[in-house]
Order: sequence, then C-alpha cells, then structure tokens
Amino acid sequence: MSDREFKNPYPDYDDSLKIFDPDTERLIPEIEGPLMENVFILLQTLEKHLASDIDWSDSSVYTGTSGIALLYMRFLDVKVIENKESEEKEKKDFLKDALSYVEPVIPYLRKKRFSFLCGVPGPLAIASVLFHRKGLPKESTDLARRMENLEREVCSPYSDCPDELLYGRAGFLFALLFLQKYLPDEDEFRENTIKEVVSSILTGGQKMAKKFKNTHKIPLYYEWHDKAYVGTAHGFAGILYMLLQAKKYLTQEDLDTLIKPTIDFLLTQQFPSGNFPSSLDNPSDRLVHWCHGAPGLIHLLLLAHETFPEKSEYLSAARRCSDIIWKRGLLKKGYGICHGVSGNGYAQLRLFQVTREEKYLYRAVKFAEWCFDYGKHGCRTPDRPLSLFEGFAGTIYYLLDLLDPLHSAFPAFQLF
Ligand SMILES: [Zn+2]
Repeated sequence: MSDREFKNPYPDYDDSLKIFDPDTERLIPEIEGPLMENVFILLQTLEKHLASDIDWSDSSVYTGTSGIALLYMRFLDVKVIENKESEEKEKKDFLKDALSYVEPVIPYLRKKRFSFLCGVPGPLAIASVLFHRKGLPKESTDLARRMENLEREVCSPYSDCPDELLYGRAGFLFALLFLQKYLPDEDEFRENTIKEVVSSILTGGQKMAKKFKNTHKIPLYYEWHDKAYVGTAHGFAGILYMLLQAKKYLTQEDLDTLIKPTIDFLLTQQFPSGNFPSSLDNPSDRLVHWCHGAPGLIHLLLLAHETFPEKSEYLSAARRCSDIIWKRGLLKKGYGICHGVSGNGYAQLRLFQVTREEKYLYRAVKFAEWCFDYGKHGCRTPDRPLSLFEGFAGTIYYLLDLLDPLHSAFPAFQLF
C-alpha cells in the first residue's frame, strides 16, 4: 500500500456469491435496488450544485458542460431506467436536460483543441446526436459536418495536433466513431474522414518509430511533449485502443505488422505488481488511474484479446491489472473516472463483460458501494468537482452504467 490509496476494506469475491442473473442480464435486486436509489440521490445533489455553480466558460466533455450533457444522454439509454416507474423519473425529460447543457455553448465554440474530450468536437458531436434524437435532421447533419471538416486541420502535415487521446487525433477519431455509432445513416463522407484520420495516426507513429529505432524496436511510436507515455490519456494505450475500435478501417496487415507488435511490446512493460508505468522504461510503479496505469491499459488488453484471440497473454495480463486495481484502486484522489474510484470500477466491469466471471462484477459493485459515501472518506476535492471526468457527474455515470453491466461503456472512450 502507498499513501495514494485507502486500504481496500472489502473481502474479495467468494465463489458462493451470486450477484448477477444471466437470464435477465440484471444484478440481483438486493444490489440493483440500492444502486438505483443512489443514482437518483446523487443526481439530485448534482442538479442542486449545478443550479448555482455551473461554469459556462468551460464547454468541454472532460471538465465542462458537455460532460453533463453526455451524462443526461446516458440516462436515455440505460434500459433499467427506461423501464423504471417512479415519480422522480416521471418528472424528468433527459433529452431536454442533455440539450440544455450543450445547445447554448455551440455559438461560442472556438477552435482550440481537436479531441472529443477537451476540444470542440465533443460538444459538436453530442449536440448533433441529440438534435437527431429530437427529430431535427438538418441541424444534426450541419453540426456533424462542421465537426468532420476539422479533419483538414487535424491531419494537415503542418498541424501541431498530437496523436494522443486527451487533446489529439485519437480523441478526434473518437468523435467520428461516436457519430458513426449514434447517427443511423451510412455516410460516405464520414467514412472517408475516418480513414484519413486512421491513416494519419498510423503514418505519424511509423515516422516516429523510425526516428527512435535505436532506443525502441517497435513499428509504432508516439510521444506527447517529448515523453513516450504508456497510458490512456496521453500515450500508446489510448491511441492503440482507439485504432482497434476503428478496426473496420484497418487492413489485416496494419493489424498484424503495426498494431499487434506494438501492443506486445507494451506487454513487456507490465510490472510484477500488474500495474503499468506512466512512460516507457520508467521504473516507478505509482499511479493506478484510468489516465496512467493498469485501469487504462486493461481496456486495450481486453480489446486486443478480442481482436487476436489466439494469444492468451492479453487476458492473463488483464486479470493481473484487475488484481492490482482491486488492491490499490480506492484512490485518495477521489471518486472520478479519470483518476478516481469510478474509473477503476470501470476496469473491473470491462473484465466482467469480456469473461462473464462474477468475481469482476463483484469488484465493480464494491467500488460503486464505496462511491455511495461520496465525500465521506476525506479525499482531495478535484479542481472541477461536478465534472464528468474529475468529479461527481462521472461517478453518477458509473453507477448508472453499472445498472446494465453488460452494456455499460466508459464514456468518451469505449464505444461498445
Ligand atoms: Zn486522470
């Protein structure tokens, strides 16, 4: 244990526990009931704070208003909520709420960054999908095109746009895949835009790999601010994960000669503890966050397992990630999804989705129960305490997602 986390007070899973009903694909009522109750209690608290503390100058998904819109959008899609009959739900119009946090910022968006999480593509893509749902196809298409047209700048050879997820091309790729998922029509223009972005990320990685061929013998190499980050937010894991989610646009050769060998190299970086370093060959085993460390890498490993099922090492490495997250994942940094308990819960939940082993769902549930006592463990208060990635909205998103464990998806990152 380090001073970064609380000691995990929960006993680990015991085989006699049955917490999931595979026929209904739902958690048992003893778990689902309190979870649902807490979702609505925490939502009420969030709404009370938003009414007085919202900062309209930040429109990002990561810390701003569009992240709140994405949370409301999720309420529209979780089946258990859809079927819930209660007064508090009857009073809600989630589509209206979602739009109310993104529509007002659209006229004020200024191009600065190009990722879904921190740039203008996030609000544009979310608003486009919400307008589509509202039955306003022209408004929806206009915003989608406005977003897709940023590709010229994102992929220009003169662009200083990085490749990573939080600010760069991988984050722009997510925005395009998000539209692809939620807007129903096949769209050739969007398809071609995705191909351009994928190709630009691959070409960039190959060029860098040549430059660094004496230090690292890998076919793809990425740096952000002169540092070869490993994790999801700024590093290899986020970029490769997004490329694998865009598998439809990759050739078998891209997969076999570029992506797989690079993931295999990352595997060699796993510490004996199960965690991963923040940057290549960094011996310090510190951060257990979605942004840096095992809770982010696990998503890449599990997608690699699904993409290259013949290799068993990805799944066993993912299980080791789960174990270290269980041990060191109740972070003193707080309850958020980027570097907090909810993001670490998502890692367990994802492993459950892939293996269907209840042990990992149990671990995800325990991390959720820890979050029921939001603010009572003496954690640090994040800079943006209400936000999707650092704060309260992200925790609610996680608890809400856990209500439909097989269909949950880490927001702004996991597509399916
Ligand atoms: Zn973080």
